[in-house]
Amino acid sequence: MLDFSSLLLAAALSGICLSVTMFAIWFTAPKAGFVLTVACGILVLVAHVILFWRYTKDPDPLLCQIVLALLTLGFLILCVSAMQYLGVHGYRRAVAPVLAAMAICAAVTFLGLDGVGFIITYTTVTALLSAIGAMFWINGSHDRRILLVVSFLSGTCAVSFALCGVVLLTKGQWTLAAAPDNWAERLNSVVAVACMTGLGALTLSLHHLQAQIELKAETMTDPLTGLMNRRALTSLYGERSFGPFMAIVMFDLDHFKRTNDVYGHPVGDQVLCRFAAVIKRYGRTGVDAFRLGGEEFVIVMSRMTEERAHDLASKIGVAFGTEIVPTQLGKLRSTVSGGIGFGGEGSSLDEVLAEADAALYAAKSAGRNCVISRKGMGKADPVKPALRSA
Ligand code: GH3
Ligand code: MG
Ligand code: MG
Repeated sequence: MLDFSSLLLAAALSGICLSVTMFAIWFTAPKAGFVLTVACGILVLVAHVILFWRYTKDPDPLLCQIVLALLTLGFLILCVSAMQYLGVHGYRRAVAPVLAAMAICAAVTFLGLDGVGFIITYTTVTALLSAIGAMFWINGSHDRRILLVVSFLSGTCAVSFALCGVVLLTKGQWTLAAAPDNWAERLNSVVAVACMTGLGALTLSLHHLQAQIELKAETMTDPLTGLMNRRALTSLYGERSFGPFMAIVMFDLDHFKRTNDVYGHPVGDQVLCRFAAVIKRYGRTGVDAFRLGGEEFVIVMSRMTEERAHDLASKIGVAFGTEIVPTQLGKLRSTVSGGIGFGGEGSSLDEVLAEADAALYAAKSAGRNCVISRKGMGKADPVKPALRSA
């Protein structure tokens, strides 16, 4: 049979090691705030375990209140860390009811009903652990296998705390005056140590996963405009075949070199951002925007007729033409030219891009500030300027 005291102290020791590891990780990656929160939560639980061990030797009523408060607080912090990680807002929704439960627990324990205090605490912890499991299952955008493990560990731990409460409840042990000692408590001490160690270790892999996802997003994003970049275009559409209801618009700002030369590079950057903002304003499902580089942008449209694709591209061009960038030399208006290439029976990205590029070239030759559509791979369909403003 396991020695209960040794088990508690071993749990405290492993908790300390885990939380020191997490503090070290947070130190090297301060952006991962949830790792710090988990480390704090585990430290609070370690304090609970050490004081609970003291309480088993010396059942002082004040110590009982502290032990119960630390247990709830530790899991509350872990719940907050899960919300932090998953980007779930509204911490108050979790914190307020838990603080209320802690206050009720302190009151009943103060009145001598420490058994009821334990039941309230176990119920609260069960609810917090269930919330952690459910949040990961519902909001997690990772590999389902990892989410399953997180949810399983939190769920198992929740059940073991629930059993502790149920045993006290069914035995009607409203007053204990000592640490509860029954089969559920012993089972819980083993299950909780195993699950918490597992969850702690998983926090590290979740941290790595998040870092990986952020890094990938960074490599796919143009830092100036926040649009996706050329790498993202290839990654999203490189292997796709473009059917008849897909189109690519290639935009190129007009006389942009002159803008830079006359107004300066920073103003040029502002113009680029302004154009990106106009594109974002016209964003919708099935429309992805990219900055290829320099002053060249691409929009990929899915489930779009030729007319609607042309209409959308023209609207973007007109809207950009009305944008005014204030500069030291006065108000600056810029224009953009666009060329549209359409998908055919399984055209590739490069083929449709080449079509769009050819149409863009035609738009530039036609005097700029217009959008031209080009239908049919390599066919000499007449190009038609569709938008031209003074
Ligand atoms: P056209 O109407 O024929 O397209 O003429 P253009 O002057 O726009 O074309 P060109 O390709 O000659 O000029 C593109 C300019 O874009 C040259 C380059 O200095 C500038 N550029 C490229 N990247 C950036 C950037 O990130 N910021 C700024 N401000 N300028 C950039
Ligand atoms: Mg260019
Ligand atoms: Mg240009």
